[in-house]
Amino acid sequence: MQPLIAGNWKMHGLAAQLSEIDAIAATVIARPPAADVLICVPATLLFRAAQTAAGRMAIGGEDCSAEVCGAFTGDFSAAMLKDAGATAVIVGHSERRKHHGETDAMVAAKAKAASRSGLSAIVCIGETEAQHRAGNTLAVCGEQIKGSLPADLARSGTAIAYEPLWAIGSGHVPTHDQIAEVHQHIRKCLMELAACAGAEMRILYGGSVTGDNAHGILALENVDGVLIGGASLHAVDFDAVLRALPDRLDRGSLPTQL
Ligand code: PEP
Repeated sequence: MQPLIAGNWKMHGLAAQLSEIDAIAATVIARPPAADVLICVPATLLFRAAQTAAGRMAIGGEDCSAEVCGAFTGDFSAAMLKDAGATAVIVGHSERRKHHGETDAMVAAKAKAASRSGLSAIVCIGETEAQHRAGNTLAVCGEQIKGSLPADLARSGTAIAYEPLWAIGSGHVPTHDQIAEVHQHIRKCLMELAACAGAEMRILYGGSVTGDNAHGILALENVDGVLIGGASLHAVDFDAVLRALPDRLDRGSLPTQL
């Protein structure tokens, strides 16, 4: 499975930071990675980021509404993100779940809306530190997968991002054994839900990924890419992650999945 290296800019970025998008895209062309590359940016930057990337890499949104249109002031539909140049969207990020009260059912509805509009959804799951300490990681992730994925999984081009909340922005990364165990469990859950489609879905790891730890994480079984916050904001840091990929191929030979 071709890995996906995805960035999440969160609420960072003004027009001046589009130079980072240009620099990342230039790197992708200069040294084509054996991976799909995606940067998810705030909605205000989507159109200009997509213009700047100019097809050299994919650009995505960070959230979308589950609704198609209507009286939802301040929200963006998946079709609007696509219209602005997105090909993918993150849904159910832990910061959305925490600060906006998003439930598994709401996340599933957003993933479904993304799929309906032709966007690949990256559905985020992950346990809190307390759940981790209590030994409930696998149970929590299993429940989140069941609740947060759209029913038409097989057709949706959806990916899962496993992001332990205690690892996001903290510099604390689970051990390789812990990541491998959770990703294996996620794969099992996905296959129970959707057999072949579950076997083919990408499972990303997210949480304090940098150029220093990416190589070991990306080498783990059932780790099909990474979702990167802080280290995606600057081209030099993001490129360090791309360099950590096992090898680089001629881009022309790689079918993009975004
Ligand atoms: C994230 O925001 O999804 C994330 C993983 O952040 P960081 O890489 O900064 O931990």
